[in-house]
Amino acid sequence: KTFPLGRSLADVLGGRPVRAVQALSGVSLTVRKGETLGVVGESGCGKSTLARCLVRLHEPDAGAVRFEGADVLGLQGYARRAYNRSVQMVFQDPYGSLNPRLSVGDALAEALTVHRIVEGGAVRERVGELLDLVHLPRDAADRYPHEFSGGQRQRVGIARALAVEPSVIIADEPVSALDVSVQAQVVNLFLELQERLGLTLIFITHDLRLVRHISHRIAVMYLGKVVETGDTEAVFTAPRHPYTRALIAAVPQVDPHQRSAREAVRGELPSPIAPPPGCPFHPRCPIAEPQCRTVVPALVPRGGPWPVACHLAGPADAPEFIA
Ligand code: SF4
Ligand code: MG
Repeated sequence: KTFPLGRSLADVLGGRPVRAVQALSGVSLTVRKGETLGVVGESGCGKSTLARCLVRLHEPDAGAVRFEGADVLGLQGYARRAYNRSVQMVFQDPYGSLNPRLSVGDALAEALTVHRIVEGGAVRERVGELLDLVHLPRDAADRYPHEFSGGQRQRVGIARALAVEPSVIIADEPVSALDVSVQAQVVNLFLELQERLGLTLIFITHDLRLVRHISHRIAVMYLGKVVETGDTEAVFTAPRHPYTRALIAAVPQVDPHQRSAREAVRGELPSPIAPPPGCPFHPRCPIAEPQCRTVVPALVPRGGPWPVACHLAGPADAPEFIA
């Protein structure tokens, strides 16, 4: 599948740490219209902070987020409201993001009227159409969040995100709280909606098999940095960063005989409050060299087809810093 190279959603560039905890630094990535970008990494690697920066729930103290060419962090007034409407988030726990005292119909109607999507008598019909879109029965409008299963609740969360007609959905671990049997249904709903509505999807997960299934491109994050980003199949076929290789090798194989080749990621994820100097992966890297303990590898192509932040992947085509 090919998608038009078009408007760039996010270009997050940060050289300095985010206040309090250095949750993100030096993250640079771009999402193209109509594609799915999968963001992967262990929990605590900064994936959710990245998502929160994109929807302005968190203001980075350095860097930029660009949407259709405009600097998002500088938007005010109408332009800011338009951006907030265009980029919607779906959370891991739909229960936490739904008001338990509002019926599903009222929650959807609220989103529709706050943003003046439709008004008056048209609201009820639009609520019905939103429920159709996520394959819930129309009488779900009269029920309350606690009356639904986890999977149904996530469908409600998706319907509410869609109510304001966004062009971008950021889904942060949207199926990891669901039973395995339900996960595939919700994932397929995302794929179907993307196709029907032309959505741009940023799908954040620690599940590599899932990311391979749904993403056109991936960004692998480690301790607040993107360490490798490229076309999903290309990266899975020939990963360039040792962390990406370890993540892929740690995915259980369907064929149990292949598991012997498994190379799990050694050791614990260091605290993001005090990340290691040099390459943040060096304490766990099987091929680390002395320079890795002092020089921060830049996320650059290094003579290959996509950027990777590893000294041994090739010579850097950008200046690198001691840190
Ligand atoms: Fe390993 Fe060094 Fe590459 Fe970091 S820069 S991933 S420590 S080889
Ligand atoms: Mg998270």
